[in-house]
Amino acid sequence: MTDFLRVTDAISLPEPGRLVTGRATREDAYPIVVCRTFVDAISHVVDWLDAAAVAVLTDDVVEALYGSTLLRGLREAGKEPLVRVIPAGEASKSLDEAVAAWHWLADSDIARRDVLVAFGGGVVADLGGWVASGYMRGIPYVNLPTTLLAQVDGALGGKVAANHRAAKNLLGAFHSPAGVVANVGFLRTTSGRHLRAGLAEAIKKAVIASPDYWEFIDEHADALLRRDLDALERLVHCAAAIKTALIERDPYERDLRRPLNFGHTVGHPLETVTGYGPLLHGEAVAFGMVVESRIARERGLLDDGILERLLDLLQRCGLPTAAADLPVPLDLDAVIGAMEKVRQIRAGSLRFVLPVAFGETVIADDVSEEEVREALAACGVPVAA
Ligand code: NAD
Repeated sequence: MTDFLRVTDAISLPEPGRLVTGRATREDAYPIVVCRTFVDAISHVVDWLDAAAVAVLTDDVVEALYGSTLLRGLREAGKEPLVRVIPAGEASKSLDEAVAAWHWLADSDIARRDVLVAFGGGVVADLGGWVASGYMRGIPYVNLPTTLLAQVDGALGGKVAANHRAAKNLLGAFHSPAGVVANVGFLRTTSGRHLRAGLAEAIKKAVIASPDYWEFIDEHADALLRRDLDALERLVHCAAAIKTALIERDPYERDLRRPLNFGHTVGHPLETVTGYGPLLHGEAVAFGMVVESRIARERGLLDDGILERLLDLLQRCGLPTAAADLPVPLDLDAVIGAMEKVRQIRAGSLRFVLPVAFGETVIADDVSEEEVREALAACGVPVAA
């Protein structure tokens, strides 16, 4: 028998001149699973795929390490995935890579209900999510994050984007994943530098939102740096709970006063002026947290004791707290210039998240250029000769 749907409507007409209002509401809910083995991770992904066809976006480093295992797992579940491999690194979070990925999908049989699996670090999660958001007005995607930074932050929430030379994440959308599986076993193969960069985003969450999380990281910093799986699993699990609690309050950022931006008002421009790559996102955020904390201290919001504890933990985690610790030289005027560009994009206002205590911040949009200059100079950022 033919299945059909009869649709009948009798919409009344508006009074002449009455304002017509368009409305749309949407609620996304998705599981975030933390596990320790690739086999477990694949089985979760497969469960969520249902009957969908699969396209996998990954980078060349992750593909070389784990690509064949993922393909085998998907094939065992009866899937024949389409695979696209992009060059590893921040430079791939670009409009060009997104356009190439859209052509790749458009030339395939991937349809509206099929699933893109973003398999890699934060770059792949951001780019994959944005590609998924734009293809056929939004197809589902699953995040399978392989770096600590992506597991504690980048793969969670619906902010997806590519960079532009004018500003970090300038091109993007809100498009939540259909599910996230964080296998901490992947962290055995990330470089020490990337592991440390991931810790920066975890420390950020502790400062802005959770004294308990601060205590945990402070106490377990050595174990985390040793890649102890118990400690990493707890770190990632708690990060998921903290980040989802924070973004749930305002998932589409109607209010831009967001504590999660701690370290980013300075950090993003640092990435822009250094050309997206030499300075890792987590390193930029760590340094940004120090600059913003110094501004808070100069304003009398933050006492020396907490600033010292933050500097101590960042240093124990091998993260930069002064310009001399950065892998690239900075020029104070260039950083200020990039921040001014962001101010323009944000209609004249630049918001700073200033820490007050663990779990408490003040969000200020009246921080002057002079205050930023002083804090950058206090961190040893020179003015070019
Ligand atoms: P990345 O994706 O570039 O990964 C870092 C490097 O590690 C790459 O070379 C990658 O190939 C390699 N790698 C990945 N997994 C590996 C593994 N298991 N073993 C060995 N090598 C591995 O960088 P990232 O630090 O993961 O993410 C940074 C990006 O995340 C930035 O673009 C940042 O803006 C974004 N981000 C987004 C959000 C968000 O809410 N959307 C939040 C935080 C950060």
